[in-house]
Amino acid sequence: MYPKLNIYLSKYKENIDTIHTLCHKNQLSVMGVTKVFCADEKLVDVLNNSPIEYIADSRIENLKQVKTLKPKVLLRIPSIHELDDVIKFVDISLNSELSTVKLLNELARKKNVSHSIILMLDIGDLREGIFYTENILDNIQEILNLKHIKLVGIGTNLTCFGGIIPEMETLEKLINIVEIIKSKFDINLEIISGGNSSHLHLLESDQRIPYINNLRLGESLILGRETAYGNPIKDTHQDVITLEADLVEVKFKPSIPEGTIGMDAFGKTPSFEDLGLMKRGILALGKQDVDFHELIPTDDKIRLIGSSSDHIIVDLTHSMIDYKVGDVLTFKLTYGSLLGLMTSKYVNKHYYK
Ligand SMILES: *Cc1c(COP(=O)(O)O)cnc(C)c1O
Repeated sequence: MYPKLNIYLSKYKENIDTIHTLCHKNQLSVMGVTKVFCADEKLVDVLNNSPIEYIADSRIENLKQVKTLKPKVLLRIPSIHELDDVIKFVDISLNSELSTVKLLNELARKKNVSHSIILMLDIGDLREGIFYTENILDNIQEILNLKHIKLVGIGTNLTCFGGIIPEMETLEKLINIVEIIKSKFDINLEIISGGNSSHLHLLESDQRIPYINNLRLGESLILGRETAYGNPIKDTHQDVITLEADLVEVKFKPSIPEGTIGMDAFGKTPSFEDLGLMKRGILALGKQDVDFHELIPTDDKIRLIGSSSDHIIVDLTHSMIDYKVGDVLTFKLTYGSLLGLMTSKYVNKHYYK
């Protein structure tokens, strides 16, 4: 049944092995990030059977389901309303709020356990973390005073929000802070988690950043791309997961709607260019499943021109193939489309070994 995702597990494994080898050569451990595929069990199993050191996700709901012997890492700063689950299901959480860490300590004390955290620092991308100009040492001192919290490392995240590219000049802010922490406190920071898939371009160009010994990687493993510039990574697959969707209508129609144009199904006033008579198709999936701008047709002569909740309209005019109703179109995916499609319950999954 369509729409359908083809999931090639061996290609995922090859990407993981290639990228892990690259990281290992640079003395970096890897957290395999599972959020873009909702911690799908079969894909998690590929990570389980790989040398990746940790399993990481931003959602506690996903980590609850994950079956693994590797340490589980919660990437999103925890909500104070989910801390019971954090203590119970997570080995290491990323944190930036002292008040939340104190609550974690309190809960861990009641259960007589210890909870490990990585303290996140913001070096300019402006998503999570204590801003690097703030008084980080006081925060660390307070955390060190908490008996049931183990500070196992510090981390930073770049590119995801502000689009800031990891380069020496930016990462020097992290390095400086690490050096100050090492000089002020007698602690062993096991993990200096330097970033996500946008960090890989540094390794590919042989730039190793001092102290950084861990990366958290999602997109690069599943899509075979570094995310600072969006380039494919050498010896990886970009088609670990592809989409197939079928045509439920194929007809010749004008390229401009007829009549007075008001609002479309989403309250926007659409506009159209007159391209004459068109061979138009309708694919049986829509906005509820995916943003069509993020789908890459393998037939590069076709063009996606619009969508509503459950339909994507496609221009088939210039294809060499004479498409008919029931024919299936194949698409490569981006991070955005993969996220939508894996999340939609209307999209089937087919796994290949
Ligand atoms: C999602 C996420 C990652 C992984 O990012 P990719 O670009 O997919 O490698 C890493 N760290 C944090 C904190 C995240 O939220």
